[in-house]
Amino acid sequence: MRMTLRRFTLPLRHVFTISRGSTEVYRALVVELEQDGLRGYGEAGESDYYGATFEGMTAALESVRPHLEATRLEDPASLWDQLRPRLGSNPFAQCALDLAAHDLWGKLRGQPVWKLWGLEIDDRLPPTDYTIGLDTIETMVRKLEERPGWPIYKIKLGTADDLAIVRALRGRTDAVFRVDANCAWTAAQTLRMAPALRDLGVEFIEQPLPPDAWHAMRQVRRESVLPVVADESCQVEDDVDCCLGFFHGVNVKLVKCGGLTPARRMLLRARQLGLRTMVGCMTETTVGISAIAQLLPLLDYVDMDGALLLAEDIATGVRIQRGRVRFPDENGCGVRLTVA
Ligand code: MG
Repeated sequence: MRMTLRRFTLPLRHVFTISRGSTEVYRALVVELEQDGLRGYGEAGESDYYGATFEGMTAALESVRPHLEATRLEDPASLWDQLRPRLGSNPFAQCALDLAAHDLWGKLRGQPVWKLWGLEIDDRLPPTDYTIGLDTIETMVRKLEERPGWPIYKIKLGTADDLAIVRALRGRTDAVFRVDANCAWTAAQTLRMAPALRDLGVEFIEQPLPPDAWHAMRQVRRESVLPVVADESCQVEDDVDCCLGFFHGVNVKLVKCGGLTPARRMLLRARQLGLRTMVGCMTETTVGISAIAQLLPLLDYVDMDGALLLAEDIATGVRIQRGRVRFPDENGCGVRLTVA
């Protein structure tokens, strides 16, 4: 295989704010893997919270270049296992490479990845939500009105005005809501908010407490009238078992766990344990979103609107239309870069 690394800095449509801070651009590292004249693509973005930088990801990937150049791709999962000792400490780099390996694998085999995994794509797949980032109430209402007609909106919370935000948005749509506090609440606050949120049509609460608040989380899991879904508390494969008894479900993210290989195993394990399954995105281009889509048959919920938050995209592949996921008639993850 031959590996090429590319860096993109892409403007967002809106300044994106969650409880931890704001950002105006998205910086993506794109991995291209080439074999037999076919090319697969994978992606990971820089992230302050997770300490992922372009330099760090590049150094990790350069360290495995000789191995890649000496290897023919047979199966992405075995490649992931082989490279784990060297890439395991940098899950973002591991993810970008693993996504490229899956896209290439499907293109070499002449099949979409979901089909190679033995999954079915049908009209029972969950629709994706559209995420409304934190802002003033007026701006959050405007963001919703800019994207009318979605079946589900995910609302970022973690302010003193959280209920007022949800009430204002509820005044504009009958869609299902889900909320994400990104660790900003206490147990008491969560339990106080949950009945009001339920009455406002919220289906679940994502990561109300900080990831180390296990004791308080057990109480929330027991007493909350709304289901609670782990995100920051469920990052890597071993975390899935830890969430049992503390959450109703887990939100797996490809960059946090290291790609499609571990994500698929985590979802299968979560289902075995009776946990609800979700995959979420960071801000991502269509490269990352097309990879997420391959997992849809394994999901109860999905948050894959990341490419819609960008003012410019870099690829074609899976598309999202008002929450519905449209697969291209292409192999692999279906990614084609539209930039040089
Ligand atoms: Mg989240």
